[in-house]
Amino acid sequence: MTYMQISGEENLYPIMWHAPVGVCIVYAESLAIEMANAHLLKLLNKTNGDLIGKSYREIFTIARSGDESALKAAAEDGKLYEDNRGAILQIHNGKEQMIPVTFVYTPVKDRQEKVIRIAIWILENTEQALNEELAAINEELAATNEEYLAGNEELAAANEELATTNEELVEAQESLRRSEKLFRSIALNIPGSLIIVIDREHRYVAIEGDIMEKMGYDRRDYEGKHPSEISPERYDASKTLYERVLAGEKFSIERKAETGEYYLVHFVPLKHDDGTIESGLIIALDVTEIKQAEEKSAKLAAIVETSDDAIVSKTLESVVTSWNASAERMFGYTEKEMIGQTIYKIIPEDRHDEEPNILARLRTGERVDHFETQRLTKDGRLLDVSLTISPVVDKQGRIIGLSKIARDITEKKQEEQRKNDFIGMVSHELKTPLTSLTAIVQMAQRKLLQHEDQFLSDAMEKANQQARRMASMINGFLNVSRLEAGKILIEKQKFNLDQLLKEILEETRLTVTSHVFSLEECNNIIVHADPDRVASVVSNLISNAVKYSPKGRLIDIRCKVDGDKAIVSIKDEGMGIKPDDLAHIFDRYYRVEANHTRHISGFGIGLYLSAEIIKQHGGEIWAESELNEGTTFYFSLPVAESLD
Ligand code: ADP
Repeated sequence: MTYMQISGEENLYPIMWHAPVGVCIVYAESLAIEMANAHLLKLLNKTNGDLIGKSYREIFTIARSGDESALKAAAEDGKLYEDNRGAILQIHNGKEQMIPVTFVYTPVKDRQEKVIRIAIWILENTEQALNEELAAINEELAATNEEYLAGNEELAAANEELATTNEELVEAQESLRRSEKLFRSIALNIPGSLIIVIDREHRYVAIEGDIMEKMGYDRRDYEGKHPSEISPERYDASKTLYERVLAGEKFSIERKAETGEYYLVHFVPLKHDDGTIESGLIIALDVTEIKQAEEKSAKLAAIVETSDDAIVSKTLESVVTSWNASAERMFGYTEKEMIGQTIYKIIPEDRHDEEPNILARLRTGERVDHFETQRLTKDGRLLDVSLTISPVVDKQGRIIGLSKIARDITEKKQEEQRKNDFIGMVSHELKTPLTSLTAIVQMAQRKLLQHEDQFLSDAMEKANQQARRMASMINGFLNVSRLEAGKILIEKQKFNLDQLLKEILEETRLTVTSHVFSLEECNNIIVHADPDRVASVVSNLISNAVKYSPKGRLIDIRCKVDGDKAIVSIKDEGMGIKPDDLAHIFDRYYRVEANHTRHISGFGIGLYLSAEIIKQHGGEIWAESELNEGTTFYFSLPVAESLD
């Protein structure tokens, strides 16, 4: 550093006195103040008298310790020291004020280079300090501002968040209300249900359901409560189940109430999005009706399975929907082979029209009982079966399918066949001696014409009558066995029905004198039929009218044309037939069992044969009867336009 060379010590003082910085000269040894310039006095707000001769320490009491050491160091080693971080105390208007300053300690040496004084330059660094401070304040302010801004932003964000949170809260509350309402309406609308929600501590969160009361629950007593508070026994029984569901297991159990109801109880764990369990959902459903129906159908299924009869159900389209064990045994097809298949698989081709006919009969409400037919087995055998068919109806009463019970009557049929064969054989064998007997009786009768013995003549007449009765019976049996074997042949021709009736009546009048006969309304009716067979039907109906009505009564025979049919009626004034019997009189071997019929001989085959003959002509036979009033038998035959 270079110093300005000033000549003349006396010039130095005025320069220093007027210097624009604070100057203070202290003696190096005592550190007493020798001089302070005007700027410093102003700075310190002091007078010369306040400072001169005083210890530097007194004046600069606030100086930091470093200041003095710097001062001493300058005195001792004669070097210039600068301390820009100093401060002096100024009392201004009674207020103390720290003024930051830079002290520059300049040693002043004598000719021997001994430091005798120290000139202290006091430079205010107020501006710098102020600037610094300002900068600092500014910085701080900026920081604060930033912080403030950030704070503001945060606040705004927080505010926004708060607003959203609030909105969310309102929405959440609303949705909670909605879900609660939804929960209750769902729970109340699941028929026969009780729904419970429990929290992780097993407390009831919600409980609702239409069987709540029935099960002994009241919502108000339960919600928010712990099950142990309500019924410790019930809780004991359910605790492990609650633990299982809250451990995340989904399961169902069945319970039978003491009152007899069955409940199916589902346990479902309800989870948070992260998979942790939030609560347990318990759904109890009253399944009593289903259970009872199941038990009933299990019983029925057992009956169906163990039945000796084949029990089959099918749709209206004849598709098999069930097939029991007996059906498997009887027809040889397994359940798997038949379900979903058409029933035509077991119907012989020539009987395929039976199905639509049966359906049509069922549709009119008619029962189809013991319908005898044949069915085909898997290995191609023809089975004789008796079918009982019932409609399967839905709740509205609509027919949705058919159930069939098929009984294998092959053996029964074979038995009947053997019986028929036997009857046929016996009748045939009896016919030969009877024919000779009749011939002998008739020969004897002719011889007796010239004889005067009345007894013998009457006896022969009676023998002849009885032989004829016997022949007619034997013929009946023969016809039955022929019919069963399909050996009755119908030989159709065109003939006058009224003519045939007249001939039969004439012959009857000759042999039957016990009743009165009339033939009316019978004019020129031509039919296409077998006259011998039709004659046997008419004779049979007339002989029944005679047999089952008292002597002397009228037997009225009529015939008429109705559309394309000729209708013959034979009316008697006899004992009549009860409705129950009326339904069966055309069955083979059917006879009315009553006191008044016991003495009347017969085998119950006449009407059966008559009905078969009429059916084979494509006609119908029926009867109307009033008990104790009389019976009218009708049969119809197809009419022909002319004899050619
Ligand atoms: P049967 O040989 O017994 O007469 P049928 O087949 O001719 O056999 O008749 C069957 C049954 O119908 C008879 O047993 C009888 O009870 C009843 N029956 C038939 N015709 C009459 C009638 N005209 N009046 C009352 N009952 C009758």
